[in-house]
Amino acid sequence: MPVFPTSFIEQVRTSTDILDLVGNYVPLKRAGKNFKGLCPFHAEKTPSFNVSPEREIFHCFGCGQGGDAFKFLMLYEKMSFTEAVTHLAARAGISPPQRSVAPEDRERGLLVKLYEEAARLFQELLGKNPRALGYLEGRGLTRDMIEKAGFGYAPDSWSTLLDHLTRKGAKPDAIARAGLAVPRREGGGYYDRFRNRVVIPIRNESGKIVAFGGRLLGPGEPKYLNSPESPIYNKSRILYGFDIAKTAIRQTGFAILMEGYLDCIQAYQAGIEHAVACCGTSLTAAHSRLLRRYTDRVVVNFDPDAAGEAAAARSIDLLIEEGFQVSVLSLPPGKDPDRFIREEGGARYRERLEGARSFVDYLIDRSARSADITTPRGKVDFLNGVLPTLARIPNQVERVGYVSRLAERAEISDAAVVEELRRQVLARAHRVDMTPPPPDPVKPAERDLIRWLLHSPDDAPALLEDVDEEDLEGLATAPIFKAMKEVLASERLSTERVLDRLAGEAERNLLTRIALEPAPLGPRQSPRDCLNRLREQRWRRQLSRLRAKLAQGSDDDSLTAEIQSLARRIESSGRMESLN
Ligand SMILES: [Zn+2]
Repeated sequence: MPVFPTSFIEQVRTSTDILDLVGNYVPLKRAGKNFKGLCPFHAEKTPSFNVSPEREIFHCFGCGQGGDAFKFLMLYEKMSFTEAVTHLAARAGISPPQRSVAPEDRERGLLVKLYEEAARLFQELLGKNPRALGYLEGRGLTRDMIEKAGFGYAPDSWSTLLDHLTRKGAKPDAIARAGLAVPRREGGGYYDRFRNRVVIPIRNESGKIVAFGGRLLGPGEPKYLNSPESPIYNKSRILYGFDIAKTAIRQTGFAILMEGYLDCIQAYQAGIEHAVACCGTSLTAAHSRLLRRYTDRVVVNFDPDAAGEAAAARSIDLLIEEGFQVSVLSLPPGKDPDRFIREEGGARYRERLEGARSFVDYLIDRSARSADITTPRGKVDFLNGVLPTLARIPNQVERVGYVSRLAERAEISDAAVVEELRRQVLARAHRVDMTPPPPDPVKPAERDLIRWLLHSPDDAPALLEDVDEEDLEGLATAPIFKAMKEVLASERLSTERVLDRLAGEAERNLLTRIALEPAPLGPRQSPRDCLNRLREQRWRRQLSRLRAKLAQGSDDDSLTAEIQSLARRIESSGRMESLN
C-alpha cells in the first residue's frame, strides 16, 4: 500500500497550483479573489463553481462538491486518493520519500503485513484440509476461484497463527491490535481469534488485506465472525470486492450492491465483476462516496427475505439521498445472488440484471402488495410506502416526475400526490436541500476558529482539546468540530480528512463553504479569542437558563450566586478581549 507520510502529501499539495490544475478541465474566469466556472459535477447554466488559489480549494455552491486538488482529481478523474497524490507528485516533479514514515503509517504498514502473512498461512492450511475445501466446493466455487479470492482455513487451535507470526518476529500485542489475536481474560497472554473457520480476506480499495471474514465449520457460535475495527479496517468505509470491482464498475457504468461476500464471489466466478458488498454493516454515506467516484448508478440486489428487503430499503434511501440512480433486482423467493447464480448460471443472472427495475417501480410494487388500494385508508398506506423515499430525491424535477406513476396506481389525482409529496419534503427539509439556504446560522467565532484550525494543523490538537462538548451545544458547526476531533485522534488535521468524516451533505457543504468564504480573518483575532468567544456564548446560554429558572420562582441563594459568578466571568472575558 503506497501510504504516503502526511508531510509528503502536504508537500505535493503545496506544490500544486489548484487554479492551473482545475483550469485544465474547466474554463475559469476571475471573480475577485476567486475564479468561477460552470461546475463539472452538476449541470448548470450560471457558474457556481469556485476555485480559490489562495486557499487551494474548490467549492460548488450549486451542488456542494468541494475540496482540494486531490479531491478534484478523485471526483473528475475517478482516481483514488493515492492515485491523485501520485499523479500530482509526478506533475510537480516530486519523488515519494523512501524514509521518514509517520508513526501511524508505520503501524498501518505493520498490521497489513501481519494480515498478508496470516492470509498466506491460512491459504496453505486450506490446501491441507479436505473438510474446509469441501465446504467451499460444496458452495459451487472452483479451485481457481477459491485461490483467486484468497480463501484460507484457520485451524481448530488456540495459537497456530500466534505461534507462526511470533516465530516471524511479530509481537503478540501487535497481532492483537490487528484483531488477529484476543487477550486472555485471565493470566495474560493471547489466543487466536479465528479458529476452525474458513476465512476470506477483506481487502481495501488498493487491494491490501485489512481484515478477515470467517465462517465457522461445524456447530457453534457465532457462525460468522469478522475482524474487529483497527487502524487499517473501518467497516463503514470498506466495501467487499471494491478493489476488483472498481474497474468493471467504470466499464459497465454501474455497481451491483449485494449483501454478502459469497454473493460477490459467486458473481465474479460467473464473470460479473462489478459487484460489491458491505461487510457486517449497512451501507453508509462513506460507502456511497466510495462508489460515487466510479459511478452514479447502483443496482441493489439483496436477499429476497424480510431482512434483505429491509436492508435494501435502507440502502435505497441512502443512495437516493446521495443522488444516485437506483434500480432494484429482485430474485425469486429463497434465492440470494449466490444461490441464483449457482443454480441458474451467470447468463440468466445477466438477463435479470438487464430487467432490474427503477427503485420507484420496486417500491410501488412492494407497497401495493401490503396495502389494499381499493380503500381510502389503503391508499394512504400505499403512498406512505413510497413517498418517504421519493422525498429524499435531491432534484425536484426528478422527484415530481414519478408522481403520475404513483397516482395512476393508487387511482387518485396527480395533484393529491404532489401535495402529499410536498408535505413530506417540507417535513424533511432540514435534510433535503431544496429551497434557498436559510440565513447563515454560523457565528464568526465558529467560522474563524474552523479556518484557523484548518490552516494551522500543527496548533490544532492543543486548541481543539480546549473545545468541550458544552461549548458546541446547538451550534451548526458542532459536527465539524466533532469530525476534527475524530481526525486528530489518529491523524493530522486536513480539510479533506474532515470532509471524509462528515456524514451529511449539508455539513460537508458547510465546511467547504467556510473554508472558501471571502471574508478575511480579523487582524487581531487569534484562535484563542475565538475559543473565548465560544466559551462566552456557552456561559450566556447557561446564564439565560439560570435566569429562566429564577423567574420560574426557584428561590435559592446558590442559584443567585451562580448567576452572579457567571455574569462576572462573562464581563471579565469581555474586558480581556478589549485589552488584547
Ligand atoms: Zn456543482
